[in-house]
Amino acid sequence: ACATAPIARVSGCDLQVPLVGGGTCVYANFDYAASAPALSQVTDRVQELLPFYASVHRGAGYASRVSTEAYESARGSVERFVGTDADQVVVFTRNTTDSLNLLASCVPGDVVVLDIEHHANFLPWKNSRVVEAADTVAETIRRIVAELCAKPAALLAVTGASNVTGEVLPIAELAEIAHRCGARILVDGAQLTPHRRVNLTESGVDYLAFSGHKLYAPFGAGVLVGRRDWLDEAEPYLAGGGAVREVTVDETCWAPAPARHEAGSPNVLGVAALAAACDALAALDFEKVVAHEQVLATRLAEGLAEIDGVQLLRLWSDAPDSVGIVTFTIDGYEPGQIAAFLSAEHGIGVRDGRFCAHPLLNRIGHAGGAVRASLGLGTGSDDVERLIAAVRQLVAGEQTWNYGKTDGLWNP
Ligand code: PMP
Repeated sequence: ACATAPIARVSGCDLQVPLVGGGTCVYANFDYAASAPALSQVTDRVQELLPFYASVHRGAGYASRVSTEAYESARGSVERFVGTDADQVVVFTRNTTDSLNLLASCVPGDVVVLDIEHHANFLPWKNSRVVEAADTVAETIRRIVAELCAKPAALLAVTGASNVTGEVLPIAELAEIAHRCGARILVDGAQLTPHRRVNLTESGVDYLAFSGHKLYAPFGAGVLVGRRDWLDEAEPYLAGGGAVREVTVDETCWAPAPARHEAGSPNVLGVAALAAACDALAALDFEKVVAHEQVLATRLAEGLAEIDGVQLLRLWSDAPDSVGIVTFTIDGYEPGQIAAFLSAEHGIGVRDGRFCAHPLLNRIGHAGGAVRASLGLGTGSDDVERLIAAVRQLVAGEQTWNYGKTDGLWNP
């Protein structure tokens, strides 16, 4: 009964997206922002390839040729999914964190970042200049402009959608601003790409990073896509086989990107799975996906906000859009207690803690963390009602198991 979870349960929405596990059955998954369950096209592709995985770029045997074709054609799937231009190259990495560390090793100058970023888009940057986000997007953008004007920077590194609040930044506008100030722009697309169409050519974004496991594919493969010149000029991110043109005892001639940064035997299955997810999502009608998620996220936010003591986390009063993330606290309860209650009593999976975004939580007055409910293609309105009812029950004190007191076990 839990093998697939078609998403046809929101009125006015006729999407049918088969997911493998993680849909709505006994367990209600509200942790898509951490990792999303696999699409069935993804598992089909992995099963198809599993008997043939072999070394890539090296063997003339049948399995090697199948693997090489799967690995190299995956770049085309990514290019189509994010609308690259001719100057941009797709490098396969392990995940978004890896992609951002790779780009950090290539940037020839200062990087301007906001203080709301996930640690993956905060810690890797050397020579970073941190801009404090304001309580409106408009004022935040004014601060970014002021920083970029004050002193030249090579890169503006921003998230496409906050992993804490789901709020979206206007990336095309930021790309235009960055370019006007002589900088390039990197978008951390970990949370944006599963929920919104991203087109690099149309938006002017120079670099984009994202992870397969948040894009309805399994762990282990991620992407850095972006302008070739910095990637070709930098030292290889990983030194080793596959990253070179020619090696002598005294000298090494490195290959250009992407091979330059992909030394070692690559994760062919992970990359093929990620590509299958890109193809499957590219084929979806995203207007319906967006409508589906907005209906559910709005109902969830409104339903929770009506409950005594619930506070929703928001960064901005004027965010142009928001992906399906609703993050909240409940007065008198620790986030870990709430998450444990939801799981044990209601079979609901959420994320609690500080979401690898400590500066953000400190600044908005939630240093103790919060609870994040995030949704995606397999979420239905029944899941949303179940979560609202569960929180209501907790606050009303009707729960059968007392999570009301801290016993020191919860460590966000
Ligand atoms: N950036 C954002 C906005 C994220 O939400 C995450 C994952 N929580 C990352 C970066 C890091 O992704 P990964 O763990 O796949 O490297």
